[in-house]
Amino acid sequence: MEAAYEIWEGDVENAVDVPQAFVAPVQLGLAQPSTPSDAEVVWHNQTHLPYEPWCTSCQAGKARGHYHIKVPPSEMALPIVQCDYTFWSNEGLALKSDVVVIDKDRAATSLTCYDMKTGFSLAIVFKKKGPIGYAVASVGYFLEQLGHSHLVLRGD
Ligand SMILES: [Zn+2]
Repeated sequence: MEAAYEIWEGDVENAVDVPQAFVAPVQLGLAQPSTPSDAEVVWHNQTHLPYEPWCTSCQAGKARGHYHIKVPPSEMALPIVQCDYTFWSNEGLALKSDVVVIDKDRAATSLTCYDMKTGFSLAIVFKKKGPIGYAVASVGYFLEQLGHSHLVLRGD
């Protein structure tokens, strides 16, 4: 059996009484984000879903302020996903639908979808409105990844 004491050879002012029954707590390290492969990064950058701690865009998106919603998510009967088009001029300005646009065909179009319950969003840029294959697939994947069994899809 070990002795119940040890001989302290340092300065008395620096000595600390440690009870013999003291057991140092196990120190847990913080979870470290994994390093994704190049293929995982390319795939993730399509929609940024699900959230990945190694993605700086996901981190920046989560760093936003409070969401400005009227109905708290806990009170929503069904999750609402809002989708809307935005038209961009060649100068990078968003064009309102009530503004006369001389050269609308040259403006880029984006479709944004926003899940009011989770705050996740999607933005797709394409040349013009319509059922474009990759846009339809991206929205489908986005809705699938949200994980809602039922939802309200709202657009104008
Ligand atoms: Zn991301």
